Amino acid sequence: IETKLPKVGTTIFTVMSQLAASHDAVNLGQGFPDFDGPQALRDALTAAMNSGKNQYAPATGWPALRQQIARKCESLYRCRVDADTDVTVTSGATEALFAAIAAVVRRGDEVIMLDPCYDCYEPAVELNGGIAVHVGLNPDDFSVDWQRVRDAISPRTRLIIVNSPHNPSGAVFDPGDLDALAAITRDTDILVLSDEVYEHIVFDGREHQSVLRHEELAARSFVVSSFGKTYHCTGWKIGYCIAPRALSAELRKVHQYLTFCTFTPAQVALAEILEKQPEHYLQLPAFYQARREYFRELLASTRFRLLPVSGAYFQLVDYSEISDKDDFGFCEWLVANAGVAAIPVSAFYESPPPDMRLIRFCFAKSDEILRTAAQRMSAL
Ligand code: PMP
Ligand code: GLN
Repeated sequence: IETKLPKVGTTIFTVMSQLAASHDAVNLGQGFPDFDGPQALRDALTAAMNSGKNQYAPATGWPALRQQIARKCESLYRCRVDADTDVTVTSGATEALFAAIAAVVRRGDEVIMLDPCYDCYEPAVELNGGIAVHVGLNPDDFSVDWQRVRDAISPRTRLIIVNSPHNPSGAVFDPGDLDALAAITRDTDILVLSDEVYEHIVFDGREHQSVLRHEELAARSFVVSSFGKTYHCTGWKIGYCIAPRALSAELRKVHQYLTFCTFTPAQVALAEILEKQPEHYLQLPAFYQARREYFRELLASTRFRLLPVSGAYFQLVDYSEISDKDDFGFCEWLVANAGVAAIPVSAFYESPPPDMRLIRFCFAKSDEILRTAAQRMSAL
């Protein structure tokens, strides 16, 4: 048969998790916490299941959850969000990203994405007949060269996808980035898809620069987030998309036939916890900053060169003093010889810089796991 995604194989996250399991390795590859969210959240989930919240939710999302999401955005980003028309609850951020892309990308439309970037954007664009246009981030600090983005715009550009805090680098936008994005899209019909799944994981006292803070950008943007990151429950797959009414209406047309609605009890539980424990996400920066500090201290005496991390829960390291293998080869070697799994950063590129020697570790792990990983790598 003629295949629709000829370039796509099994994701690097699955490949590395399987390798980690087969070598009994510490898995710092695929990004997920090894701890649970608040006990009250899990109690609220079982209570929801035991009180009959087990049938389809409204397709657009459990109303109380949409209201809590709208309230959170107003209080954090000073953005008026209508819970009825602008918020859609989805099965993880992954579904929201796919639905947004499917809703607006037409055959032959170009979609600009910034490399390195998360792996699900390009296949979604291709499946919908679009063309991915890759623009490299600055290789030294993973900031955006907005002039290069401007140069990549053509009459066929339909969408620009941005991601801050950034996976895999941990770079974050500053307010100037939002102004630059607004300037290059002004007087065009280009839409923006802003992947903000790590919105609550930003360090060193910095503020997350949501496009929702920027009125002009918010008017042309789909903003996607995920409770998996915020409440340490990646396996629940509950995410959402905020977009102006007209864009949300298009996204909802796709969502209603993609999944119709998502897991009801988790939506009920999350609505409750957002109302009762907003301090959970307000404390996430300090919580993860402590993980970052701990992991960096543990690696300080190795020959890995640690890159700066301003957000999300990933540490990039340059291993060129340890090996001249390419990053895939080094990750295979590391899992087999040191018993630690990581992700090769070139997996996030269409064409990686030729001599890049970077791998990604996830530090959303208990002290003990981070200590074990560091100890296994201490002789490198
Ligand atoms: N975008 C980015 C940048 C991510 O890192 C992830 C998950 N790791 C997702 C989207 C997908 O989120 P979810 O698991 O909620 O689908
Ligand atoms: N987003 C996670 C990461 O970057 C992986 C999620 C997945 O396996 N699809 O590691």
